[in-house]
Amino acid sequence: MHNKNLIKKYLEELLNIPSPTGYTGNICEYIKSELKELKVDYKTSNKGIIVATIDGINQDEETTFSSHIDTLGAMVKEIKSNGRLSVSQIGGYMMNSIEGENCIIHTRNEKCYEGTLQTIRPSIHIHGNDARELPRDCKNYEVIIDEEVFSKDDILKLGIDIGDIISFDTRTRITKSDFIKSRYLDDKASVAAILYAIKYIKLNNIKPKNTINFLFSNYEEVGHGSSAFIPKNTTEFIAVDMGCPGEGQNSTEYDVCICTKDSNGPYDYDLVNRLISTCKSRSINYKLDIYPNYGSDATAALKSGMDAKFALIGPGVFSSHGYERTHIKSIIETINLIIAYIS
Ligand SMILES: [Zn+2]
Repeated sequence: MHNKNLIKKYLEELLNIPSPTGYTGNICEYIKSELKELKVDYKTSNKGIIVATIDGINQDEETTFSSHIDTLGAMVKEIKSNGRLSVSQIGGYMMNSIEGENCIIHTRNEKCYEGTLQTIRPSIHIHGNDARELPRDCKNYEVIIDEEVFSKDDILKLGIDIGDIISFDTRTRITKSDFIKSRYLDDKASVAAILYAIKYIKLNNIKPKNTINFLFSNYEEVGHGSSAFIPKNTTEFIAVDMGCPGEGQNSTEYDVCICTKDSNGPYDYDLVNRLISTCKSRSINYKLDIYPNYGSDATAALKSGMDAKFALIGPGVFSSHGYERTHIKSIIETINLIIAYIS
């Protein structure tokens, strides 16, 4: 039996650290300090990718698992004369999914200011139908800063400038029934699964068949996460990222999802077969699925020239890139598959 509380602790700690793409320094430090505590060797790339390695019996062929520590977010696009900020999106999401959400503006001199993302016509008592019918385009949103600011100058005096990062409240809730509701379970549910798996491997002195690497990428949401720093003996690359349960999909919030094809085409036939037979022989609950609008870090690695078999597995995350939900069972089955596959 796995320690659910430890999985939840990792997940809550990860979700608590704001990490929109381009602002992953703090979460990198968190990952590195966990790896140090677990006494696992790691390296960091110039771009900030972390690769942790555990030697296997066979050191000539390596299996690399990737997960991404960056999330969606926004950047200050314009400082408006009314004392508000317009924003530019980081990553692909629907603006209405963060409408009315609390946020933090992170300045380059390490100050944080609170605010709320609102539409430019936020009050039904003032704008009536215009409030309802306003197109939910990025240009129709602004951040109301929780400071007494009334002009562009007032904002500049706070030290806020164009290009400052904006992170959104994750609204993390873990229910008694073990559902986890939060923004950015993509991909922090997988990162928590991987940290837990590493701890499990160390505590139980498991010697992997092949050397294994855990790559934490920091630019996945913008497409070039695992495009560098892939250990050179990698013969198998397994992206650990969310599955997509929903209308017409086979994925669930209770199983480990194995993707057979996404927007970039089929995943490696043999490696997917091996993952399926591992699930069958170890009684791991899994679901196969196809994702019509999805690109993973496996594709980023392939496009950068990697020659390895490649797959995508992970917990099922409902309402992805919105207010997301999964169940602890899905994370546990992902952990089970990782551990079973390497040993
Ligand atoms: Zn993801």
